[in-house]
Amino acid sequence: MADTLYLLYTLKDAMEWKEKEKAIRGKEALYKLIKYMFERDRLNFPNNIPELYSFLLMEPCHNYLDGISSREPFANPNGEINSEIKGHLEEDNPDEKIQADIMKTILLLCRNESKKILDDESDEETKSRENYWENIYLDARGYISETSIREKAELDIDIVNKFPSQISSIIKKGYLPDKRISDAQLVCPICGKIALKENSNLCENEVCNYYIKRNKLAPVVKNLNGKHAMLAPGLYKFILSPGIAEKFIYEKIKERFTTYEVALYPNIDEYDINVKLGEKVIHLDVKDAKTPEILLRTLLEESNIEKLKIEKNRVVWLVIPDHRSSIYSKTYDTNYLEKLKQLLQNEKLKIEVISEYHLLSRIEQEMEELFS
Ligand SMILES: [Zn+2]
Repeated sequence: MADTLYLLYTLKDAMEWKEKEKAIRGKEALYKLIKYMFERDRLNFPNNIPELYSFLLMEPCHNYLDGISSREPFANPNGEINSEIKGHLEEDNPDEKIQADIMKTILLLCRNESKKILDDESDEETKSRENYWENIYLDARGYISETSIREKAELDIDIVNKFPSQISSIIKKGYLPDKRISDAQLVCPICGKIALKENSNLCENEVCNYYIKRNKLAPVVKNLNGKHAMLAPGLYKFILSPGIAEKFIYEKIKERFTTYEVALYPNIDEYDINVKLGEKVIHLDVKDAKTPEILLRTLLEESNIEKLKIEKNRVVWLVIPDHRSSIYSKTYDTNYLEKLKQLLQNEKLKIEVISEYHLLSRIEQEMEELFS
């Protein structure tokens, strides 16, 4: 995918140049595209720059790009880049990755503090101190995921009051000053972003819009008097947004199985959710990537894939939220889970994937087997 990604950047650049520059600067893109296609025995490549641009506007992406399933061309006649390609490029924004690392720093710090205590001694008092760091992690993650916009003064007071100093100084780095005019604003009831005006969708995030429609939610009035601060885009994209489904799924399981122990981000984020009955535990990892290809790439590149693999005496499920299957099937006319299972099989990865839709009945079934 690294090869393809590199080509995507070049083609995107070529697409965005102004008309008169296209003739000169399209050359590099043309050369890279020919090389890419030639190496893959795809010989219907464009031969000159005018052909390159009509190729990008006509040829279905999946015919010549590895790991892209879209049957639409690279760009539409207005020059807007294909949404699947855009997803891949956005996913790869280095600035946002650095911002998202703020959460990782908090995670490592909490794990480290908790481990230090365990190494020292292990009695009841120690156990409660270990829980202390687990709770700090949960609170920090909850705070970051709560809303994307906050009053600056409120933020400053909050983080000092709620967190130990080494954590509050890290959280502070996760917010950027926002220059918009202060006023009472209508905001998204799910993520807190300023609501869109004159649009059928309330939020710019498609995930929020799914839940707003499903749960018939209305925008919320937020008073933003004085200076305010915005959650960094990387934290929004990699922590707040995926957390929306994680929290809904967690609540749903808790509500249905009142006698089970259900934990969100257990053991300082070992998994997203643990469902426990006696000795039996089901680990859930909720993954909200725009396409199965992006999900596969994150699995291969970033996450600790070993913890998701099927193993004896361990039940781990990778859960695809309903909003994702629904948005994906509307956009691509393909079944997200089937496509993902096929990709995992191609990579010989043994990971059990289930849909949120089947989750509750699967949990019930799994726990019943315990007693049969
Ligand atoms: Zn929203």
